[in-house]
Amino acid sequence: MSNNFYSYPIKLTPSIRMTYTDSRVHVGRLKNAVDFITRKNTPIMAALDGTVVDVKQDSDTGGDTEYYDKFGNYIEIRHPNGEYSIYEHIKKDGSLVKKRDKVKTGQIIGYSGATGWLAGLGPHLHFDVHKYFGEGPEDYETVEISWQRD
Ligand SMILES: [Zn+2]
Repeated sequence: MSNNFYSYPIKLTPSIRMTYTDSRVHVGRLKNAVDFITRKNTPIMAALDGTVVDVKQDSDTGGDTEYYDKFGNYIEIRHPNGEYSIYEHIKKDGSLVKKRDKVKTGQIIGYSGATGWLAGLGPHLHFDVHKYFGEGPEDYETVEISWQRD
C-alpha cells in the first residue's frame, strides 16, 4: 500500500468512470495503475503535496497501439514519502506546472487529453503511484493506492 493517502486526481462526477482493469496495459509494473475515463480538458489535481520532477506536453498525437507510447504527455511529481505520482495523456501544452515547481494537494496542475498510447479507452487520465528501484526511466513499480476519501 502507498505510504500516504492520495486525493483523487480528478473531480469524480457521474460522467467519469474510474477503472483499474479496463486497460490491457495495466499489467506487470503497472498493475496498480488506474484510469479515469473523461473528456478532454478535464482539470487534473495534484494527489499529494510534492515537487514536479518531469513534464512532457509537446505532443498532439495519440492512438491505440504501443507505437503511440512515445507521444504521451505527462506530469510526474515526487512526494516527501519517496513515492511518485504520474498523470498521463494530458493535452498538448496542457500543463500548468514546470519541473521543480512545488505543488499542493488538490492544486490544479493541468488538463486531460488523449495523447500517447490510449489502448482503446479514448480520452482519459492515467494515474499511478510508483517507487523507483533503479536509475532507468522505467525502473519503477506501481504501489496499491490508498485513497483519501472526503
Ligand atoms: Zn492507464
